[in-house]
Amino acid sequence: MFSSLENYSVIVTGGTKGIGKGIAKAFARQKARIMIAARDRNAAKTTLEELSQFEGDVHFCCCDVSDWDDVQHLVEHTVNEFGGLDILCANAGCYPVIPIEAMTPGNWDEVLDNNLKSSFLCVKAALPHLSKAGHGRVILTSSITGPMTGIPGLSHYGASKAGQLGFMRTAAMELAKYQTTVNAILPGFIYTEGLSSHLSPDDLDAMAATIPLKRIGHIDDIGHTALFLASKEAGYITGQTIVVDGGQTLPETLALHADF
Ligand code: NAP
Repeated sequence: MFSSLENYSVIVTGGTKGIGKGIAKAFARQKARIMIAARDRNAAKTTLEELSQFEGDVHFCCCDVSDWDDVQHLVEHTVNEFGGLDILCANAGCYPVIPIEAMTPGNWDEVLDNNLKSSFLCVKAALPHLSKAGHGRVILTSSITGPMTGIPGLSHYGASKAGQLGFMRTAAMELAKYQTTVNAILPGFIYTEGLSSHLSPDDLDAMAATIPLKRIGHIDDIGHTALFLASKEAGYITGQTIVVDGGQTLPETLALHADF
């Protein structure tokens, strides 16, 4: 049994959809106070309604995580609402598919800003408050794509997700003096609004067939992992990665996949 996270103050960027919603839901079930952050207010309304069935106290703050002023406002607003900040889940990100030959420098910058620079901005803004908590937690949503694998059309994305891990390892060392841990989750394919907008149901079935656990991941799979990393009991884990991919990265060759 893990210690309670009731009334803990949590920021989840990208908490209105997909994996971020799964993370917010997991904390809401633990009766935490959660600030979900994203740009689209309409999506947020629907998500707040959905999350109201749990006992946590869930709020929304409109924020573009690639913008320093927005991120500072997100953290200040959260601290004013909840009286402090215990856990930062820097999850927001995007993955537009563009081959290198067609990619513009602007395309590259947009993905690096949304996925990598945002991790730095969120940690920088949250740091004074996480350090005060004395048990702060930073949980980054990285990916297997970049750190472990590649997908054609996602060179910018892969660079951003691998870059998050380089940032994480140094941040973990710098924040250790505040007893704040910094870790990253590396999801495989997780069924989300973002993933399903790129792929047909047939594509998703074909992908599931190549995964040893024979299914696309669920947002709750990532929510549960975030809860573990946020727990008091995970307080001696820092600068580490947890792959949550149903075994997706295990096969040496898909030519033999019928054998498992
Ligand atoms: P999703 O369904 O598209 O949701 C993305 C969320 O991030 C939305 O709430 C979106 O809201 C928010 N967001 C995007 N850019 C933002 C910005 N600049 N500022 C603020 N909010 C922003 O995506 P997902 O599949 O859940 O992915 C979430 C994270 O998991 C990403 O970091 C992604 O790289 C990672 N990941 C996903 C998978 C997967 O298979 N799904 C696998 C590995 C890693 P707004 O658009 O309203 O701002």
